[in-house]
Amino acid sequence: MKIATCSHRPVLVPCNLKNFEYQIDPYIGCQHYCYYCYVLNQAETDWTREIQIYDDVSGQLSKELARILPQTIYLGYYTDPYQPLESEYCQTRQVLELLLESGFSASILTKSDLVVRDIDILQQMQDAKVSVSVAFQEDLDRQRFEDNTPKTDARVAALKQLKLAGVRTGALICPVFPMISDAKALFAMLADLTETIWVYGLSIDDPSDRNWQNIREILSTHYPALQKEIEAAVFAKSHPFWVRLREELVGLGRSYPIDLHIHL
Ligand code: SF4
Repeated sequence: MKIATCSHRPVLVPCNLKNFEYQIDPYIGCQHYCYYCYVLNQAETDWTREIQIYDDVSGQLSKELARILPQTIYLGYYTDPYQPLESEYCQTRQVLELLLESGFSASILTKSDLVVRDIDILQQMQDAKVSVSVAFQEDLDRQRFEDNTPKTDARVAALKQLKLAGVRTGALICPVFPMISDAKALFAMLADLTETIWVYGLSIDDPSDRNWQNIREILSTHYPALQKEIEAAVFAKSHPFWVRLREELVGLGRSYPIDLHIHL
């Protein structure tokens, strides 16, 4: 894996998400390399060979932050801020240290339990939030679709640790693979640990996209008996699988004091 540095692009960039004006992705590329990742379709480099980090992330970001008012910055929109490289390069920790020092806060999305390392910083921020994303109840399924990520159990344990430490938490059940992901079981694992759960399906813009080609290959190798039915459901929101799942999740959501957002 080549680690390249870049200094030509801004660290702080405008964010399209509701409630956030700016986002930061401390890494360009993602070592987790989930085969279904929609960002793979736009990736400038092959993430299995090269990830880019900022030449001087703190120096560059401190100048960029000086131009805006303190606010909450979103981390993890395009790439995971706690991918394995973070243990060594600490780009995310440097960003958080600077945000705290400058009066900003952070809302983080990750698939990694490494985030608990930074609880000390998050506790000091005004209203920091960490959301953890999970897609598979069964570890064999996780390995087939996102082998480089931490296990689901480790992510759920991280969420618990964050909550106990007083950091606000959220969770994404994403992406739900029809007939493979057990979204109801994942909901049950998460519901007591978080104030908000979002549920999303796969993000496939075009069947020729790289992520869909990856998924098809995995389905034909490991789930040949289900492939046809899964493919039919992925491209039809009216498929009985989604209709039933939406109803079941709405029912489950009523049993918990939770803010549930179903985007299926
Ligand atoms: S962790 Fe997120 S950004 Fe990284 S490869 Fe997986 S889906 Fe893509």
